[in-house]
Amino acid sequence: MSRAPRWEIPPTAGLPLHLLDLRGGRANLAARLAAQLGTPPLQLECSGTAALLLALEVLRARQPDRPVVVVPAYTCPLVAIAIHQAGLRVRLCDLRPGHYDMDPQALADACREDTLAVIPTHLAGRVADVDTAVAVAGRVGAYVIEDGAQALGARDRGASVGLRGDVGFFSLAAGKGLSIYEGGLLLTRDAQLREALREESAWRVPRRPTWEFRRCVELAGLAMLYRPRGLALAYGRPLRRALQRDDKVAAVGDAFAPTVPLHRVGRWRQAVGAHAVARLPEFLATLRRQAYVRRARLRRLGVEVFDDPRGAQGTWPCLLLQLPDEHSRDQALAQLWTAGLGVSRLFIHALPDYAYLADRVPRAPVPNARAFAQRTLTVSNSPWLDDAVFEHIVEVIGRAIA
Ligand SMILES: *Cc1c(COP(=O)(O)O)cnc(C)c1O
Repeated sequence: MSRAPRWEIPPTAGLPLHLLDLRGGRANLAARLAAQLGTPPLQLECSGTAALLLALEVLRARQPDRPVVVVPAYTCPLVAIAIHQAGLRVRLCDLRPGHYDMDPQALADACREDTLAVIPTHLAGRVADVDTAVAVAGRVGAYVIEDGAQALGARDRGASVGLRGDVGFFSLAAGKGLSIYEGGLLLTRDAQLREALREESAWRVPRRPTWEFRRCVELAGLAMLYRPRGLALAYGRPLRRALQRDDKVAAVGDAFAPTVPLHRVGRWRQAVGAHAVARLPEFLATLRRQAYVRRARLRRLGVEVFDDPRGAQGTWPCLLLQLPDEHSRDQALAQLWTAGLGVSRLFIHALPDYAYLADRVPRAPVPNARAFAQRTLTVSNSPWLDDAVFEHIVEVIGRAIA
Protein backbone atom coordinates (compact mmCIF):
# COMPACT_ATOMS: atom_id res chain seq x y z
CA MET A 1 0.00 0.00 0.00
CA SER A 2 1.27 3.45 -0.92
CA ARG A 3 2.31 6.08 1.61
CA ALA A 4 -0.43 8.31 2.96
CA PRO A 5 -1.04 11.28 0.66
CA ARG A 6 -1.01 14.77 2.15
CA TRP A 7 -4.02 15.87 0.19
CA GLU A 8 -7.13 14.07 -0.85
CA ILE A 9 -9.68 14.54 -3.61
CA PRO A 10 -13.23 13.91 -2.33
CA PRO A 11 -14.90 10.91 -4.03
CA THR A 12 -17.78 13.11 -5.19
CA ALA A 13 -17.82 16.79 -6.10
CA GLY A 14 -19.64 18.60 -3.31
CA LEU A 15 -20.12 22.35 -3.52
CA PRO A 16 -17.44 23.81 -1.22
CA LEU A 17 -18.76 26.19 1.42
CA HIS A 18 -17.22 29.63 1.83
CA LEU A 19 -16.45 30.92 5.29
CA LEU A 20 -18.79 33.83 4.52
CA ASP A 21 -21.65 31.34 4.14
CA LEU A 22 -21.38 30.79 7.89
CA ARG A 23 -22.40 34.38 8.66
CA GLY A 24 -26.08 33.48 8.95
CA GLY A 25 -28.93 35.43 7.38
CA ARG A 26 -32.35 34.56 6.03
CA ALA A 27 -33.32 30.93 6.62
CA ASN A 28 -34.80 30.47 3.15
CA LEU A 29 -32.82 27.52 1.78
CA ALA A 30 -35.86 25.52 0.60
CA ALA A 31 -37.54 28.53 -1.02
CA ARG A 32 -34.40 29.59 -2.88
CA LEU A 33 -33.77 26.09 -4.15
CA ALA A 34 -37.36 25.68 -5.31
CA ALA A 35 -37.11 28.95 -7.22
CA GLN A 36 -33.81 27.91 -8.75
CA LEU A 37 -34.96 24.43 -9.78
CA GLY A 38 -38.42 25.59 -10.86
CA THR A 39 -40.22 23.14 -8.58
CA PRO A 40 -43.28 23.47 -6.35
CA PRO A 41 -42.40 24.26 -2.71
CA LEU A 42 -39.69 22.00 -1.24
CA GLN A 43 -40.01 20.66 2.30
CA LEU A 44 -36.80 20.65 4.33
CA GLU A 45 -36.12 17.72 6.67
CA CYS A 46 -33.09 16.67 8.71
CA SER A 47 -31.85 14.05 6.20
CA GLY A 48 -32.77 12.37 2.97
CA THR A 49 -33.64 9.26 4.97
CA ALA A 50 -35.92 11.28 7.26
CA ALA A 51 -37.63 12.73 4.18
CA LEU A 52 -38.18 9.22 2.80
CA LEU A 53 -39.45 8.00 6.17
CA LEU A 54 -42.06 10.77 6.34
CA ALA A 55 -43.14 10.10 2.76
CA LEU A 56 -43.58 6.39 3.52
CA GLU A 57 -45.63 7.18 6.63
CA VAL A 58 -47.96 9.49 4.73
CA LEU A 59 -48.46 6.98 1.92
CA ARG A 60 -48.98 4.09 4.33
CA ALA A 61 -51.73 6.04 6.10
CA ARG A 62 -53.49 6.32 2.73
CA GLN A 63 -53.17 2.60 1.92
CA PRO A 64 -52.65 0.82 5.26
CA ASP A 65 -53.11 -2.70 3.85
CA ARG A 66 -50.01 -2.47 1.65
CA PRO A 67 -46.89 -3.39 3.68
CA VAL A 68 -44.29 -3.76 0.92
CA VAL A 69 -41.89 -1.28 -0.70
CA VAL A 70 -40.00 -2.30 -3.84
CA VAL A 71 -36.44 -1.01 -4.14
CA PRO A 72 -33.53 -1.59 -6.51
CA ALA A 73 -31.31 -4.34 -5.09
CA TYR A 74 -28.35 -1.99 -5.43
CA THR A 75 -29.01 1.19 -3.50
CA CYS A 76 -28.14 3.03 -0.29
CA PRO A 77 -28.61 0.88 2.85
CA LEU A 78 -30.40 3.87 4.43
CA VAL A 79 -33.34 3.22 2.12
CA ALA A 80 -33.85 -0.20 3.72
CA ILE A 81 -33.44 1.35 7.17
CA ALA A 82 -36.15 3.95 6.46
CA ILE A 83 -38.57 1.31 5.15
CA HIS A 84 -38.05 -0.81 8.26
CA GLN A 85 -38.44 2.20 10.54
CA ALA A 86 -41.74 3.03 8.83
CA GLY A 87 -42.99 -0.46 9.78
CA LEU A 88 -42.87 -1.66 6.17
CA ARG A 89 -41.07 -4.49 4.36
CA VAL A 90 -38.40 -4.34 1.67
CA ARG A 91 -38.91 -6.28 -1.55
CA LEU A 92 -35.89 -6.31 -3.84
CA CYS A 93 -35.96 -5.74 -7.56
CA ASP A 94 -32.87 -6.84 -9.47
CA LEU A 95 -31.21 -4.43 -11.88
CA ARG A 96 -31.22 -4.54 -15.64
CA PRO A 97 -28.08 -6.47 -16.66
CA GLY A 98 -25.15 -4.05 -16.59
CA HIS A 99 -27.31 -1.03 -15.74
CA TYR A 100 -28.30 1.02 -12.70
CA ASP A 101 -32.06 0.90 -13.50
CA MET A 102 -34.40 -1.75 -12.15
CA ASP A 103 -35.11 -4.52 -14.64
CA PRO A 104 -38.61 -3.89 -16.11
CA GLN A 105 -39.65 -7.56 -15.99
CA ALA A 106 -38.33 -8.03 -12.45
CA LEU A 107 -40.16 -4.85 -11.49
CA ALA A 108 -43.43 -6.11 -12.94
CA ASP A 109 -42.99 -9.36 -10.97
CA ALA A 110 -42.19 -7.50 -7.74
CA CYS A 111 -45.18 -5.13 -7.86
CA ARG A 112 -48.36 -6.73 -6.53
CA GLU A 113 -51.51 -5.89 -4.62
CA ASP A 114 -49.47 -5.71 -1.40
CA THR A 115 -47.10 -3.06 -2.78
CA LEU A 116 -47.27 0.42 -1.31
CA ALA A 117 -44.51 2.08 -3.31
CA VAL A 118 -41.65 1.63 -5.77
CA ILE A 119 -38.42 3.62 -5.46
CA PRO A 120 -36.60 4.28 -8.76
CA THR A 121 -33.22 5.78 -7.94
CA HIS A 122 -31.18 8.47 -9.68
CA LEU A 123 -27.83 6.89 -8.88
CA ALA A 124 -24.64 8.98 -8.93
CA GLY A 125 -26.48 11.84 -10.63
CA ARG A 126 -27.67 9.66 -13.50
CA VAL A 127 -31.34 9.98 -14.36
CA ALA A 128 -33.37 6.83 -13.73
CA ASP A 129 -36.17 5.36 -15.81
CA VAL A 130 -39.09 6.67 -13.77
CA ASP A 131 -41.64 6.22 -16.57
CA THR A 132 -41.43 2.42 -16.39
CA ALA A 133 -41.82 2.52 -12.60
CA VAL A 134 -44.87 4.80 -12.93
CA ALA A 135 -46.45 2.48 -15.51
CA VAL A 136 -45.80 -0.71 -13.54
CA ALA A 137 -46.79 0.78 -10.16
CA GLY A 138 -49.91 2.28 -11.71
CA ARG A 139 -51.15 -1.15 -12.81
CA VAL A 140 -51.29 -2.36 -9.18
CA GLY A 141 -52.20 0.95 -7.53
CA ALA A 142 -48.79 1.54 -5.91
CA TYR A 143 -47.05 4.88 -5.49
CA VAL A 144 -43.71 5.93 -6.95
CA ILE A 145 -41.09 7.63 -4.77
CA GLU A 146 -38.13 9.02 -6.71
CA ASP A 147 -34.86 8.71 -4.82
CA GLY A 148 -32.95 11.78 -5.98
CA ALA A 149 -30.55 11.74 -3.00
CA GLN A 150 -27.55 11.80 -5.33
CA ALA A 151 -29.07 13.97 -8.03
CA LEU A 152 -30.04 17.43 -6.75
CA GLY A 153 -30.20 19.63 -9.87
CA ALA A 154 -30.72 16.76 -12.34
CA ARG A 155 -33.37 17.36 -15.00
CA ASP A 156 -35.54 15.12 -17.10
CA ARG A 157 -37.30 16.55 -20.17
CA GLY A 158 -36.92 20.08 -18.88
CA ALA A 159 -38.07 19.63 -15.26
CA SER A 160 -36.31 18.70 -12.04
CA VAL A 161 -36.19 15.00 -11.27
CA GLY A 162 -38.52 14.02 -8.43
CA LEU A 163 -41.72 15.28 -10.07
CA ARG A 164 -42.73 12.40 -12.35
CA GLY A 165 -43.37 10.04 -9.46
CA ASP A 166 -45.79 10.79 -6.62
CA VAL A 167 -43.04 12.00 -4.27
CA GLY A 168 -39.35 12.71 -4.67
CA PHE A 169 -36.55 13.44 -2.24
CA PHE A 170 -33.04 14.88 -2.29
CA SER A 171 -30.20 14.61 0.20
CA LEU A 172 -28.15 17.50 1.56
CA ALA A 173 -25.70 15.20 3.36
CA ALA A 174 -21.96 15.87 3.31
CA GLY A 175 -20.54 14.87 -0.05
CA LYS A 176 -23.83 14.98 -1.95
CA GLY A 177 -23.70 18.16 -3.98
CA LEU A 178 -25.08 20.91 -1.83
CA SER A 179 -24.68 20.14 1.86
CA ILE A 180 -25.76 21.44 5.24
CA TYR A 181 -23.97 18.39 6.72
CA GLU A 182 -27.24 16.49 7.01
CA GLY A 183 -30.49 17.47 5.37
CA GLY A 184 -33.17 16.31 2.99
CA LEU A 185 -35.84 17.80 0.76
CA LEU A 186 -39.25 16.46 -0.22
CA LEU A 187 -41.10 17.45 -3.34
CA THR A 188 -44.33 16.54 -5.07
CA ARG A 189 -46.44 18.04 -7.82
CA ASP A 190 -49.61 16.94 -5.96
CA ALA A 191 -50.84 19.79 -3.75
CA GLN A 192 -52.87 17.51 -1.47
CA LEU A 193 -49.94 15.21 -0.89
CA ARG A 194 -47.71 18.23 -0.24
CA GLU A 195 -50.10 19.37 2.48
CA ALA A 196 -50.21 15.86 3.98
CA LEU A 197 -46.39 15.72 4.06
CA ARG A 198 -46.27 19.14 5.71
CA GLU A 199 -48.78 18.09 8.37
CA GLU A 200 -47.00 14.80 9.03
CA SER A 201 -43.75 16.67 9.58
CA ALA A 202 -45.40 19.29 11.79
CA TRP A 203 -46.72 16.80 14.34
CA ARG A 204 -44.11 14.07 13.95
CA VAL A 205 -40.77 15.91 13.93
CA PRO A 206 -39.58 17.40 17.22
CA ARG A 207 -37.07 20.17 17.76
CA ARG A 208 -34.32 18.31 19.65
CA PRO A 209 -31.80 21.15 20.12
CA THR A 210 -28.91 18.84 21.04
CA TRP A 211 -29.12 17.11 17.66
CA GLU A 212 -29.27 20.46 15.89
CA PHE A 213 -26.34 21.79 17.90
CA ARG A 214 -24.30 18.76 16.92
CA ARG A 215 -25.16 19.28 13.24
CA CYS A 216 -24.15 22.95 13.47
CA VAL A 217 -20.71 21.98 14.80
CA GLU A 218 -20.40 19.33 12.09
CA LEU A 219 -21.37 21.83 9.39
CA ALA A 220 -18.75 24.31 10.59
CA GLY A 221 -16.21 21.47 10.53
CA LEU A 222 -17.27 20.53 7.01
CA ALA A 223 -16.86 24.14 5.83
CA MET A 224 -13.30 24.19 7.18
CA LEU A 225 -12.13 20.73 6.18
CA TYR A 226 -13.77 20.34 2.75
CA ARG A 227 -10.59 21.08 0.79
CA PRO A 228 -7.79 18.72 -0.26
CA ARG A 229 -5.64 19.16 2.86
CA GLY A 230 -8.51 18.92 5.30
CA LEU A 231 -9.97 15.92 3.51
CA ALA A 232 -6.70 14.01 3.88
CA LEU A 233 -7.37 14.19 7.60
CA ALA A 234 -11.15 13.95 7.78
CA TYR A 235 -11.75 11.49 4.93
CA GLY A 236 -8.47 9.93 3.77
CA ARG A 237 -7.16 8.73 7.11
CA PRO A 238 -10.28 6.87 8.21
CA LEU A 239 -10.61 5.46 4.67
CA ARG A 240 -7.09 4.00 4.69
CA ARG A 241 -7.51 2.63 8.20
CA ALA A 242 -10.74 0.90 7.26
CA LEU A 243 -9.15 -0.63 4.16
CA GLN A 244 -6.13 -1.77 6.15
CA ARG A 245 -8.43 -3.89 8.29
CA ASP A 246 -10.30 -4.88 5.11
CA ASP A 247 -13.53 -3.21 6.23
CA LYS A 248 -14.79 -1.98 2.87
CA VAL A 249 -18.25 -1.15 4.20
CA ALA A 250 -16.73 1.29 6.68
CA ALA A 251 -14.33 2.59 4.04
CA VAL A 252 -17.10 4.02 1.87
CA GLY A 253 -19.34 4.97 4.80
CA ASP A 254 -21.96 2.27 4.20
CA ALA A 255 -22.24 1.30 7.88
CA PHE A 256 -25.27 3.17 9.17
CA ALA A 257 -27.03 3.29 12.53
CA PRO A 258 -30.18 1.10 12.70
CA THR A 259 -32.55 4.06 13.13
CA VAL A 260 -32.47 7.61 11.81
CA PRO A 261 -33.02 10.61 14.05
CA LEU A 262 -35.88 13.00 13.34
CA HIS A 263 -35.48 16.65 14.28
CA ARG A 264 -35.99 20.12 12.84
CA VAL A 265 -33.27 21.88 10.88
CA GLY A 266 -32.40 25.13 12.63
CA ARG A 267 -32.33 28.61 11.11
CA TRP A 268 -28.54 28.95 11.02
CA ARG A 269 -27.95 25.84 8.92
CA GLN A 270 -30.76 26.88 6.59
CA ALA A 271 -29.14 30.29 6.16
CA VAL A 272 -25.74 28.71 5.43
CA GLY A 273 -27.30 26.51 2.77
CA ALA A 274 -29.24 29.46 1.34
CA HIS A 275 -25.97 31.37 0.74
CA ALA A 276 -24.36 28.38 -0.96
CA VAL A 277 -27.39 27.79 -3.21
CA ALA A 278 -26.50 30.93 -5.15
CA ARG A 279 -23.34 29.21 -6.45
CA LEU A 280 -24.98 25.88 -7.27
CA PRO A 281 -26.02 26.41 -10.94
CA GLU A 282 -22.57 27.64 -11.96
CA PHE A 283 -20.92 24.79 -10.06
CA LEU A 284 -23.14 22.15 -11.68
CA ALA A 285 -22.44 23.63 -15.13
CA THR A 286 -18.68 23.49 -14.51
CA LEU A 287 -18.97 19.86 -13.43
CA ARG A 288 -21.00 18.99 -16.50
CA ARG A 289 -18.41 20.48 -18.88
CA GLN A 290 -15.59 18.64 -17.15
CA ALA A 291 -17.55 15.37 -17.07
CA TYR A 292 -18.26 15.48 -20.81
CA VAL A 293 -14.58 15.86 -21.67
CA ARG A 294 -13.47 13.14 -19.25
CA ARG A 295 -16.25 10.78 -20.23
CA ALA A 296 -15.07 11.04 -23.84
CA ARG A 297 -11.47 10.34 -22.79
CA LEU A 298 -12.49 7.21 -20.88
CA ARG A 299 -14.64 5.98 -23.73
CA ARG A 300 -11.75 6.28 -26.19
CA LEU A 301 -10.01 3.86 -23.88
CA GLY A 302 -12.94 1.46 -24.18
CA VAL A 303 -14.29 2.04 -20.66
CA GLU A 304 -18.04 2.08 -20.10
CA VAL A 305 -19.16 5.34 -18.48
CA PHE A 306 -22.82 5.58 -17.46
CA ASP A 307 -24.87 8.28 -19.12
CA ASP A 308 -28.43 9.64 -19.00
CA PRO A 309 -31.36 8.53 -21.14
CA ARG A 310 -32.35 10.73 -24.07
CA GLY A 311 -33.90 14.03 -22.96
CA ALA A 312 -32.38 13.91 -19.48
CA GLN A 313 -29.53 15.96 -18.07
CA GLY A 314 -28.22 14.54 -14.82
CA THR A 315 -25.63 15.97 -12.44
CA TRP A 316 -22.00 14.87 -12.36
CA PRO A 317 -20.67 14.42 -8.81
CA CYS A 318 -18.52 11.61 -10.22
CA LEU A 319 -18.17 9.43 -13.28
CA LEU A 320 -19.66 5.99 -12.71
CA LEU A 321 -17.62 3.37 -14.56
CA GLN A 322 -18.27 -0.27 -15.28
CA LEU A 323 -15.20 -2.40 -16.00
CA PRO A 324 -15.31 -5.77 -17.81
CA ASP A 325 -15.16 -7.86 -14.61
CA GLU A 326 -14.44 -7.82 -10.89
CA HIS A 327 -10.79 -8.69 -11.39
CA SER A 328 -10.00 -5.68 -13.57
CA ARG A 329 -12.06 -3.40 -11.32
CA ASP A 330 -10.14 -4.59 -8.25
CA GLN A 331 -6.82 -4.24 -10.04
CA ALA A 332 -7.57 -0.60 -10.80
CA LEU A 333 -8.73 0.02 -7.24
CA ALA A 334 -5.64 -1.63 -5.74
CA GLN A 335 -3.62 1.27 -7.10
CA LEU A 336 -6.14 4.06 -6.86
CA TRP A 337 -8.46 3.64 -3.87
CA THR A 338 -6.00 4.72 -1.18
CA ALA A 339 -4.01 7.12 -3.34
CA GLY A 340 -6.06 10.19 -2.46
CA LEU A 341 -7.10 10.71 -6.08
CA GLY A 342 -10.88 10.58 -5.67
CA VAL A 343 -11.32 7.05 -7.02
CA SER A 344 -13.71 4.97 -4.95
CA ARG A 345 -16.73 2.73 -5.04
CA LEU A 346 -20.38 3.66 -4.68
CA PHE A 347 -22.11 1.17 -2.38
CA ILE A 348 -19.98 -1.88 -1.61
CA HIS A 349 -22.68 -4.53 -1.86
CA ALA A 350 -26.05 -5.38 -3.27
CA LEU A 351 -28.48 -4.97 -0.35
CA PRO A 352 -28.73 -8.69 0.65
CA ASP A 353 -24.94 -8.81 1.11
CA TYR A 354 -24.75 -6.36 4.02
CA ALA A 355 -24.57 -8.58 7.10
CA TYR A 356 -25.90 -5.79 9.32
CA LEU A 357 -29.08 -5.44 7.22
CA ALA A 358 -30.02 -9.13 7.55
CA ASP A 359 -33.21 -8.39 9.54
CA ARG A 360 -34.33 -5.69 7.09
CA VAL A 361 -33.56 -7.13 3.67
CA PRO A 362 -34.72 -10.49 2.26
CA ARG A 363 -32.06 -12.87 1.00
CA ALA A 364 -33.19 -12.86 -2.63
CA PRO A 365 -30.94 -13.83 -5.52
CA VAL A 366 -30.11 -10.60 -7.33
CA PRO A 367 -27.30 -11.53 -9.72
CA ASN A 368 -27.34 -8.33 -11.75
CA ALA A 369 -27.13 -6.10 -8.69
CA ARG A 370 -24.24 -8.22 -7.40
CA ALA A 371 -22.42 -7.97 -10.71
CA PHE A 372 -23.00 -4.21 -10.66
CA ALA A 373 -21.42 -3.96 -7.19
CA GLN A 374 -18.49 -6.06 -8.38
CA ARG A 375 -17.73 -4.27 -11.64
CA THR A 376 -18.32 -0.57 -10.94
CA LEU A 377 -16.11 2.15 -9.54
CA THR A 378 -16.34 5.93 -9.35
CA VAL A 379 -13.93 8.62 -10.45
CA SER A 380 -14.50 11.89 -8.66
CA ASN A 381 -15.55 14.83 -10.80
CA SER A 382 -14.26 17.33 -8.25
CA PRO A 383 -12.65 20.41 -9.83
CA TRP A 384 -9.67 19.69 -7.53
CA LEU A 385 -8.92 16.62 -9.62
CA ASP A 386 -6.75 18.23 -12.31
CA ASP A 387 -6.02 16.98 -15.82
CA ALA A 388 -2.64 15.45 -14.95
CA VAL A 389 -4.10 13.41 -12.11
CA PHE A 390 -7.03 12.39 -14.28
CA GLU A 391 -4.64 11.23 -16.99
CA HIS A 392 -2.80 9.10 -14.41
CA ILE A 393 -6.12 7.53 -13.38
CA VAL A 394 -6.91 6.82 -17.03
CA GLU A 395 -3.56 5.07 -17.47
CA VAL A 396 -4.07 2.85 -14.42
CA ILE A 397 -7.56 1.88 -15.56
CA GLY A 398 -6.26 1.27 -19.07
CA ARG A 399 -3.65 -1.18 -17.75
CA ALA A 400 -6.24 -2.91 -15.58
CA ILE A 401 -8.55 -3.64 -18.52
CA ALA A 402 -5.75 -4.46 -21.02
C1 LIG B 1 -27.49 9.12 0.69
C2 LIG B 1 -28.61 8.43 0.09
C3 LIG B 1 -29.85 8.35 0.74
C4 LIG B 1 -30.09 8.90 2.12
O1 LIG B 1 -29.84 10.29 2.22
P1 LIG B 1 -29.27 10.91 3.59
O2 LIG B 1 -29.43 12.39 3.40
O3 LIG B 1 -27.85 10.50 3.70
O4 LIG B 1 -30.11 10.40 4.70
C5 LIG B 1 -30.87 7.70 0.09
N1 LIG B 1 -30.69 7.15 -1.13
C6 LIG B 1 -29.53 7.22 -1.79
C7 LIG B 1 -29.41 6.60 -3.14
C8 LIG B 1 -28.44 7.85 -1.20
O5 LIG B 1 -27.28 7.90 -1.84
